[in-house]
Parts: sequence; C-alpha cells; structure tokens
Amino acid sequence: MKKTRKIFIVLFLAVLLPALFYSVYEISALDESEEMISQIYQRQLDAILFSINQHVLDVASNWATQIENEISHTQFERIIQANPSIISIIVADTSLSTVTIFPMQQLRYRRSITAQKEMIDRLVRYHAASYRKLEPIIESDSTTIIFFISQSTLQVVGVVISNDRFINDILAKKLIDIAQNDFVVAVGRQSNGSTIFATSSEQGKNFSQQRRLWIFPDHIIKIRLKGTTIQDVAKERFNRNILLIILMDTVLVFGAWFVFRTISREMELIAMKSDFVSNVSHELRTPLSLIRMFAETLEMGRVRTEKKKKEYYTTIVHETDRLTRLINNILNFSRMESDTRRYNFKPTNLNDIVTSVISIYSYQLEQLSFTVKISLDAHLPEIFADEEAIAEALHNVIDNAIKYSREKKFLGIATSSIQNSIMIEIEDHGIGINPEHHSKIFEKFYRVSHGLVHTAKGSGLGLAIVRHIVQSHNGTITIHSEPQHGSKFIITIPLIQPV
Ligand code: ADP
Repeated sequence: MKKTRKIFIVLFLAVLLPALFYSVYEISALDESEEMISQIYQRQLDAILFSINQHVLDVASNWATQIENEISHTQFERIIQANPSIISIIVADTSLSTVTIFPMQQLRYRRSITAQKEMIDRLVRYHAASYRKLEPIIESDSTTIIFFISQSTLQVVGVVISNDRFINDILAKKLIDIAQNDFVVAVGRQSNGSTIFATSSEQGKNFSQQRRLWIFPDHIIKIRLKGTTIQDVAKERFNRNILLIILMDTVLVFGAWFVFRTISREMELIAMKSDFVSNVSHELRTPLSLIRMFAETLEMGRVRTEKKKKEYYTTIVHETDRLTRLINNILNFSRMESDTRRYNFKPTNLNDIVTSVISIYSYQLEQLSFTVKISLDAHLPEIFADEEAIAEALHNVIDNAIKYSREKKFLGIATSSIQNSIMIEIEDHGIGINPEHHSKIFEKFYRVSHGLVHTAKGSGLGLAIVRHIVQSHNGTITIHSEPQHGSKFIITIPLIQPV
C-alpha cells in the first residue's frame, strides 16, 4: 500500500501536475493569442477599406485633372458624356461673382456653390500651399459635389456626382474585384442605414469593419469575411483549442491511471506469488510428514490391530492423493499459463464423474461429520467434456467447501439440465465470501485474507484452474455467497461440442 501511494505521488508530480500547469497556462494564453489574431485580421480588413477609399479618391482626382485640362476652353461635354455619374460641372471665380454651369439646364446647382464661401476660402489657402485638395459636400440624398481649385486658372470647380451611379458603375467593379470569394463588401448610406450595393446577398450578419467614404461623406463601406465573422473564426479556434487541451488532459489522466493500475497490479501479483511459494511449501510438507510418520509406525510393527493398520494405510493413500492433486494443480496451472494445456473432449455423463469424485471424499467427509446431500438428475444428457479436467474442477470446488466450513458442515451437490446446457451446483454452509471478493477469487494466486485463511492452507490457484477448465468447455461459473451463510458455486456447460 505504501509503495502504491509512492507511485501515485510520483505519477502525480511528474506527469499530472506539469500537465495541469501547462493546460492552465495554455488556456490563459489562448485568449490573448486569439485576441491578437483577431486584431491582425481587423487590421487587414482596415487596409482593404483604406485601399477602396484610395481608389475612389483616385477616380475623383483623375476627373479633376481632366477638367483642369479642358477648363481654358470649357469643353466639358466629352467628360460628362464619358462619365455618366457626373451630372454637372460648375466653374466659378473664387469670389463667386461669375458662376458657369455645364450643362446649362443644371442651373439649380448655383445655390450649392454660393453657399460654400467659407469652404472655398479654405481651398484657396490649400492652393496657395500648392496642394490641390478635393472637398466633398453632400448636395442632396442622391448627389455629392466635389470641389477643388483649378491650378491653371485659379477657379473653383464643383463636380456634381450621382451617388448611386458612381457606386454602381465605378465602385461596384472594384468591390467585386477585392471581395472575390473571401469577403463581403458593401456600400451604404450612413444616414438611413440602407445598402446601395453589396458583393454578396448573404443576409443577417454583422460587418466586422466599416469606414466612411472620404469622397461621399454620407456613405460608408463595410467589410466582413464571407460565411463567418472574424469573431466567429477566433471563437471557433478558441473552442477547438480548449477541446484539444481537455482531450489531451483526459488521455493523460487515463494514461497515468492505467500505468498506476498496471504497476499496482503487478506489485500485488508479486506479493501474491511470494505468499504462494510459502503456502505451497507448507501444503507439501504437511502430507509428507504425515505419510512418513504413519509409514514409519507401520514399518516398526508398532500397530497391533488390523483395523488400525487399515486406518493408517487409508491415511497414507489419502495424503498421497492430496499431494498428487496439489502437484497436478501446479503442473496444470503452468500448462494453462503457457497455453499448452490440451483437453480431450468426448461424450461424458456428468453424474458418473460426480459420483466417482464424491466416493474419493466419502471417508474424509465422514471423518469430519459432514452432512452430504447429493441430488443427481437421472435424465441428465451427456456433454462433450474432458472427464479428468471436470473431475479436477470438482475436486477443487469440493476441497474448498470442506476447507472453508466450520461449525455447520454441509456439502450439497446437484446436477440438472436447463435448455441446451447442464448445470452443477456445489453448496456449503461455511464461512462464505464477501461480495467484494466474488470476481477476484477466480484470479490466480488470489486468496481472501480472513482469519481462517491462516489455518486453511491453499495455493490460490484452485478456482483459477476451475474457471479455465469451465471456460474451455464454453461454460460459465458463478458464485452466490454471503459471509457466515455459506457459498454456492454454479457451473453451467453447454451441450454442444466445444471447438
Ligand atoms: P485456495 O487454495 O486459497 O483455496 P482458491 O483459488 O481455491 O485458492 O480459492 C480462492 C479463495 O476463495 C480462497 O482463498 C478462499 O478465500 C475463497 N474461497 C473459495 N471457495 C470458498 C468457499 N467454498 N467458501 C469460502 N471461501 C472460499
């Protein structure tokens, strides 16, 4: 017990504790690393949104350059025709005294430019610093005007753009190109939350990132991973990793438990083997000294009456039988262990075997004042069995019944047939066996440690041999036993021939 506790402590300290620490560390680190991965993803999406904004700005800058090239001879028709999202181009001097609108019918935009005096002054200041700034204003729900100062003529230019046309004709292509199969990108209006264009019709999911469009102040671009969101991906990874850690820990705990169990069983076996050696030596010595004592007495002619002589001879024969059985048990056990025990199955009447085994015990049972009750089923069908082996099994069970009985000396043996098997029951009213030992008593070397075991010697092999024999006949052996109330062993053997 002390040794097994030591093994348990070593296993715990060397295997389980480090694994526990590692798991706790990993779980706490997991959260951090998932957060980091999520941030990296977010930054990537941010970069994509930035590039979209940059693209829109490039288109607008390109227009500005084209307009500047045409501004001296005010030939804007070609530009307006080539770019259907441009509704109108307004040109004015910086004091806003002359305002020209192309095409002419878009006169209503005049008001839009005259209201922007302050912003125009700011653009002029930028221009003075040699910087052409594009300044958008929201003209209406559907139009935006981009203002800039023409470098060559120092005039204010306003480009009136149809938001929806720009988005559907120019921006959509870029978004589809960027999104491919990995992302969903959408453009919508910030003020009413409506979506104007989306690269996929996937509904009901939140976008993980969104940015305002620089050139269209009332519009936002939104992006997310297709199918799942970054949070979903991070969460899924987190859950998977936790599951793996739990799995690994479970395997480790089971492994440690298995190693612990194997080692403690081996140690138990070693202890049982050493008990076995001392028990067998004792078992051998007792009959040998009895045989020697009786033989010497006879040899010296000290026994007078024939009756006494007969008694001595019987004891010698009986003790020799005991010795033979013990040695046979050990030999058979070693054959069983090396898997070399062979059985000779042939049609056998079980009642005959019972009768013959009982006759061997009759003298001993009578001497010990046992009540014997034998009830044999006269119509018992024959079974395919190895006669010797079955007799050996019965010897072992009956031996135990005698060995483990105290005041109430009773031995009952009954045979019967049920369905396709025959059954043999061996019953005693002896010391019984606590249920916790029921499954173990059939293991090799196993002996229940109670008071009587010291006086009732044995090898711990008997029932292991019985079980092996019964199982080789495709049969089963069960036990019903309670401490102080005796035991009943039931052996069942099927009628069909074992292969
Ligand atoms: P042993 O040589 O010790 O009798 P067995 O394998 O025959 O070995 O039996 C294993 C143990 O089972 C015994 O040590 C004993 O404690 C218990 N046992 C077996 N048969 C009986 C019985 N009829 N009554 C009480 N205990 C029994």
